[in-house]
Amino acid sequence: MDVAPPALSTVPPLDAVLAAAQVEFEEHPVTRMLVFLPDAIGTALCRDFQSELALVEMETQVRVELRSMVPAKTPVCFASMFTGALPDAHGIRRYERPVLVCDTLFDALARAGRRVAIVAVRESSMDTIFRNRDIDYYSEDDDSAVESRASGLIEQDRHDLVVAYQQAYDDCLHRTSHRSPEALAAFRRHLADFNSLAFMAGMFWGRHDHALLFAPDHGAHDDAAGRGTHGDNIPDDMEVTHFWGLRAESRLRRERLMQRLGESRLRSARLRAAGLMPAHPVRDRQLPGDRPMKILFLGDSLTEGTVGSGFIPFLDDFIPHHNHDYVNLGANGDTIGGLRRRAEALDQSVRGDAAFVWIGTNDVLMHPDWQDNAEQAEADYAALLAAVKPRVRRLWSVAPLIASQARAAEFKHALDRSAEMMRRVAEGAGATWVDLAPVFSEQPEHDYTIDGAHLGPDGARLVAGWLIGLIDNFACGGPA
Ligand SMILES: [Zn+2]
Repeated sequence: MDVAPPALSTVPPLDAVLAAAQVEFEEHPVTRMLVFLPDAIGTALCRDFQSELALVEMETQVRVELRSMVPAKTPVCFASMFTGALPDAHGIRRYERPVLVCDTLFDALARAGRRVAIVAVRESSMDTIFRNRDIDYYSEDDDSAVESRASGLIEQDRHDLVVAYQQAYDDCLHRTSHRSPEALAAFRRHLADFNSLAFMAGMFWGRHDHALLFAPDHGAHDDAAGRGTHGDNIPDDMEVTHFWGLRAESRLRRERLMQRLGESRLRSARLRAAGLMPAHPVRDRQLPGDRPMKILFLGDSLTEGTVGSGFIPFLDDFIPHHNHDYVNLGANGDTIGGLRRRAEALDQSVRGDAAFVWIGTNDVLMHPDWQDNAEQAEADYAALLAAVKPRVRRLWSVAPLIASQARAAEFKHALDRSAEMMRRVAEGAGATWVDLAPVFSEQPEHDYTIDGAHLGPDGARLVAGWLIGLIDNFACGGPA
């Protein structure tokens, strides 16, 4: 990430990772990274349950064999992993959990202006020992909440590094044994959650060179009484395998992502069928589309879809056999002010699970200087979102779009200013900001429109493919 290592770091970089990064990224530093920390998943477990590990391997390309710390206890390990120092140097030499005062990777990143989020189960080592840094901490009730939170952070794309710590396998092995059915089920959930987060990174960090790391702290074994434990200097406890996924933005072009979307859904279905992807203990992780939802689409002609092609009919293509109810509230020629009035006049019975508000393109076309209209547009937009928000659990606010790149360049000033305003208002209103412009600019030579503004079938399909990813994650119980 182009940041100097923390002060105490004495370990050299991992050659295999550097070599792969050179191939994937050439000289570019990565600008996003997910570090996933499943507690107590040792190399022996990975070796003995090789087929399950496909969930991690399919998202990563470098495997690094490492030795844990002595003693192989979680705080000792994480203190070493995030300082690059041995226990004597960072000071955590046994199972104890003081807040580290020495320099850590998180300090190094914060110094360099990078934004870091640590998402961990409340009161775990990861939650406690790295406190008091200029980074964001998310303490969650359980692994499921950690996955949801991390997933939402990736979607929001506000952090350069997202660290997600889960502990159910470790909890189970101490209660039972390290290969008990309960512990193995937890192990599989860790793998499935990593897979989900990797998928989210592909969807929402696709515009960044990014890296994924699956990095357990230590392994485990059973004691003489048959109870799971760890902390001995033996291979079962000491050997860990870390998996690195490196993904260059250039390789993750839209087409590739679309393909991955289809493939990964197929793989999930197969893994589920093989019993390798268990239902979540807290919220059942159904396959996308299993839970029927009502989704409102408020907008202009891009939504109505009678000039050129509408994207709503294509939504069905991406999640077959679903029962979502899509309500088309698009109206040709509508503006921010017009949609505000329509939304405020909607009957109270018009409600849904989620809504997309996609408006502003006509305003941009009418006000290329975005000057005299700016103040009214902002007031109208705030009122519009306020009128829709109480009707749904999830609100997406979509930026004005001129899909033709040549035409978009002409209106760049108004597009930029309107998007800046709408994003700000959306964030204040608790809506999630969605900008489709980068999706279209990835193939600048291709015109997805019929007239510079209205979408043709391939443009509508591209929009549908992108929006379905959001719907999908929401349907799967993603972050609210
Ligand atoms: Zn433990």
